[in-house]
Amino acid sequence: MSDEIQQHVDKAYAYAKTFCDEGHVADYIPALAEVDPLKFGMAVALPNGDYCCAGDGDEAFSIQSVSKVFTLALALKCLDDTIWDAVGREPSGSSFNSIVQLETECGKPRNPLINAGAIATTDRLINGGSAEDVVAQILTFMQQRAADPTVYIDDRVATSEAGSGARNRSLAHFMSAFGNLKHPVETSLSAYFCQCALAMSCRQLARAGLFLAFGGKDPVSGERVISAEHCRQINAVMLACGHYDNSGEFAFRVGMPGKSGVGGGILTIAPGRGAIAVWSPGLNQAGTSFVGSIALEHFTRAIGWSIFE
Ligand code: GLU
Repeated sequence: MSDEIQQHVDKAYAYAKTFCDEGHVADYIPALAEVDPLKFGMAVALPNGDYCCAGDGDEAFSIQSVSKVFTLALALKCLDDTIWDAVGREPSGSSFNSIVQLETECGKPRNPLINAGAIATTDRLINGGSAEDVVAQILTFMQQRAADPTVYIDDRVATSEAGSGARNRSLAHFMSAFGNLKHPVETSLSAYFCQCALAMSCRQLARAGLFLAFGGKDPVSGERVISAEHCRQINAVMLACGHYDNSGEFAFRVGMPGKSGVGGGILTIAPGRGAIAVWSPGLNQAGTSFVGSIALEHFTRAIGWSIFE
């Protein structure tokens, strides 16, 4: 079975690579602007512990907003349904860092996968403790999920984003004004910037997402990570909201729950089958990897892993 999947990975990789000079690297975070735009990797993690990889699938990159899926999982695990007091679960139809809905909706972000929603989620996760403690908790969670202690937070990327994060500061202050942040703005933001600066390879990211394809249970270790109900909720939110104002298009073309990051990574979940991660830094207008989405579309069509098959 993994030989057949590897062939599909190789074909999708070869096809998508021809588009590698399209898309634009995120440059509003200076450290991301330095990344080679021609990088391209892909990895599929399977429930028997096997992997199918291609290209730069073992090179660490900045996972950015893909981290929001994992902080949502942690928030549901630690705080249960109370997290939905802080964030909604409707698609925003707006860009990742939009502020407009926050005013009319009284500081409650539409969902946990837009920037405002992720900042509010991380704020709740701090839960009266320190930003450092929650960052350590997130890092440990990611190392465990990836089954790899080498997963790390790239301090240079975190510092670069903190130094250019006026937009996220605006979102955080706005939510704070409505009473929807429980900690000082800089405390919540410092944890948020660190989670976005997690550095992982496609192989590690796909492995980390595997529990979401198996009802909240890690199929390799057998560990129950989150409840089946929370797993269903996360996949639903990923499908509807994982790509900001490009979520409908991604669902239409790829047909799997997924989450993009402006570092060029995308994690997608094929329930009951596996988890797929791609990385190519050139982005489309909504901040989703241009080549990555082409590779995923090609792969899922060929192998029949769309949830609508
Ligand atoms: N750290 C990025 C930001 O807050 C994340 C955005 C993304 O990856 O989509 O702008």
